[in-house]
Amino acid sequence: MRTVVIDGPTNVRVDTRPDPVLPGPDGAIVEVSAAGICGSDLHFYEADFPLAEPIALGHEAVGTVVEIGRQVRTVKVHDQVMVSSVAGCGNCPGCTTRDPVMCHKGFQIFGGGVLAGAQADLLAVPAADFQLLKIPDGISTEQALLLTDNLATGWAAAQRADIPLGGTVAVMGLGAVGLCALRSALFQGAAKVFAVDRVDGRLDRAAAWGATPVKAPAVEAILAATSGRGADAVIDAVATDASMTDALNAVRPGGTVSVVGVHDLQPFPLNALGCLIRSITLRMTTAPVQRTWPELIPLLASGRLDVDGIFTTTLPLDAAAKGYAIAAARNGDDVKILLTP
Ligand SMILES: [Zn+2]
Ligand SMILES: [Zn+2]
Repeated sequence: MRTVVIDGPTNVRVDTRPDPVLPGPDGAIVEVSAAGICGSDLHFYEADFPLAEPIALGHEAVGTVVEIGRQVRTVKVHDQVMVSSVAGCGNCPGCTTRDPVMCHKGFQIFGGGVLAGAQADLLAVPAADFQLLKIPDGISTEQALLLTDNLATGWAAAQRADIPLGGTVAVMGLGAVGLCALRSALFQGAAKVFAVDRVDGRLDRAAAWGATPVKAPAVEAILAATSGRGADAVIDAVATDASMTDALNAVRPGGTVSVVGVHDLQPFPLNALGCLIRSITLRMTTAPVQRTWPELIPLLASGRLDVDGIFTTTLPLDAAAKGYAIAAARNGDDVKILLTP
């Protein structure tokens, strides 16, 4: 089978490897029909995370179940399924919360060097009853792919931002996660969302979705628009030192900064005294993917929550290198790239 691998900065290629075998009696093999390129994949591409050896990339997949172990109960062969990007054992007190991050055995993310990569023809999925969900009626392929990671992340970012009804929120970074967070913040009660990015096309897209565009760096503009107090909540979907510092400076006293961007491996220089004096809450979240599905699926299927238009670009799997180059350029026209094996 083909799988997208990276063996050094910007060096993405499509490799041929043996087909995967079932990862135990609770596992399944999924034939991938669509896989996303995620902003967090770019950390490998841009050398933020050094590679000891080549790894298979990708953690967002939907596809068809082609094989199941004898213990699998909730999906069967031929089912169209989505695969949670974050995997738990599915069988411990932590996993009963449906948040794989709480797994007592430690969670894994596909395409991070331990589990296989989702940008491939076939994907081996452990604990399939926990990681897989048959795609419900009324959910499109693109919606299902967003449910595997980016929308779950943006939704959880807004939930953990303590947004007061009628409140003011700033969202840093208008890639796929930031746009999902923007929509989620409005849905969860924000009256005004400042959408912050450096790229004009992304600011335009956010404005069309009901946000107030602000060109980064945005602290002064947000303070000026809030009588000097700051936003009730700031969601940081970038998580560089600069964006996190801006987020902490743009939130009001007593407000919450909710970080879901993936920082690099270096420590962040936190102004602890400034946060203490202003009673800031700082939350950081890896997507509780499976826990969000019972909330998000009915909202998407009913049309009440709309995240259409986030996938802008579709390429065949063999063009993965081009897809990564487009994603890394972070231009205004291409937000999120879908690969079709
Ligand atoms: Zn991701
Ligand atoms: Zn577990």
